[in-house]
Amino acid sequence: MSEIRLERIHKIYKETRAVDDVSLDIKQGEFMVLLGPSGCGKTTLLRSIAGLEEINAGRVWIGDKDVTDLPPRHRRIAMVFQSYAVFPHMTVFENIAFGLRMQKLAKDVVDKRVNSSAELLHIENLLERYPSQVSGGQRQRIAVARAIAMESEVLLMDEPLSNLDALLRLEMRAELKRLLSEIGSTTVYVTHDQVEAMSMGDRIAVMRSGKILQLGQPLDVYQTPVDRFVGGFIGNPPMNFVTAEISGGDGVLMAGVEGVGSVKVDDAHTELLKPFVGKPVTLGIRAENIDVGDDAPEGDSLKARVLVVEPLGSHDLLTCRLGDEQLKVSTRPDMEIKAGQDIRLRFEHERTVWMDPDSERTIGM
Ligand code: ATP
Repeated sequence: MSEIRLERIHKIYKETRAVDDVSLDIKQGEFMVLLGPSGCGKTTLLRSIAGLEEINAGRVWIGDKDVTDLPPRHRRIAMVFQSYAVFPHMTVFENIAFGLRMQKLAKDVVDKRVNSSAELLHIENLLERYPSQVSGGQRQRIAVARAIAMESEVLLMDEPLSNLDALLRLEMRAELKRLLSEIGSTTVYVTHDQVEAMSMGDRIAVMRSGKILQLGQPLDVYQTPVDRFVGGFIGNPPMNFVTAEISGGDGVLMAGVEGVGSVKVDDAHTELLKPFVGKPVTLGIRAENIDVGDDAPEGDSLKARVLVVEPLGSHDLLTCRLGDEQLKVSTRPDMEIKAGQDIRLRFEHERTVWMDPDSERTIGM
């Protein structure tokens, strides 16, 4: 059974549908990421699970209990928020112990839990200090340690790493993931950072305008987005989109891009794309799934002009002009491609996503 079950949650503020009919099952021990742009409803959904928002409709289950009408303190959850509150007049130790003292746990239990969660977050040498005597990143770790010390079955986190500098954030991302899988708590984690979502989540729920657009394992969402929005939101650089027109018959279809060549439609998509013969489609392709080379077959490649070459160490990122459109292509640095050069591009068939330009949805999903 699932640890958290959301059934048709609605939350409406005056004219805004912040959460619009969301259902979601989160498994025991799972790390679920709610991902989406600012204002899509992630925080409101998280606060609905916590009981900090009164929802307009729907039910929230935690374990086998319907907690919809219970106050936050009876939901057996621990939380870390972006605006993490540490109490300035308490030592780091007392800050971490706060929730445990509220539960009136025995002193030795409190000591043990505070010490072990402080150790996990590498702040064990700061326990006697006050929050004003530690860095911003350390303060954020105090807030995480306090939540972890609660040993709740459910941990809710809203952008907990947002105030850390880039390097610490990278380090904490991996640490937190390891830590939470060790503890085995069920985690719901809100972020607008797609890299964080990809690297940490067991599954990602991509949200927009109060709805979940796609729910899946990070790689599946990355490789097969349900629509143009998801493909463009996830990945750095975002997925490329190219307009092409479908032509052909006799079981072979081509997608032609005006003035630059055509791409072969693979067998798996031929049936699905037949209704589009004579019509435009949108091809979605990621930078790393485009092969560059003069040996690309005429009938299955596109001519492009390199506009910019960005050497990024592990690979070069090319910005290319393809007809009227631009696209990003990732190449090996030793290919030594120069700006101004004309190249041929071949799209990997199994990684090409085909979209209906009207609905912007992936065909066949
Ligand atoms: P962010 O990443 O910017 O925090 P979010 O995805 O978490 O965004 P929410 O904070 O859940 O988004 O907000 C969803 C929508 O609900 C937004 O349009 C927001 O303006 C609106 N909203 C949130 N809280 C309130 C409120 N208390 N009163 C009115 N509208 C609200």
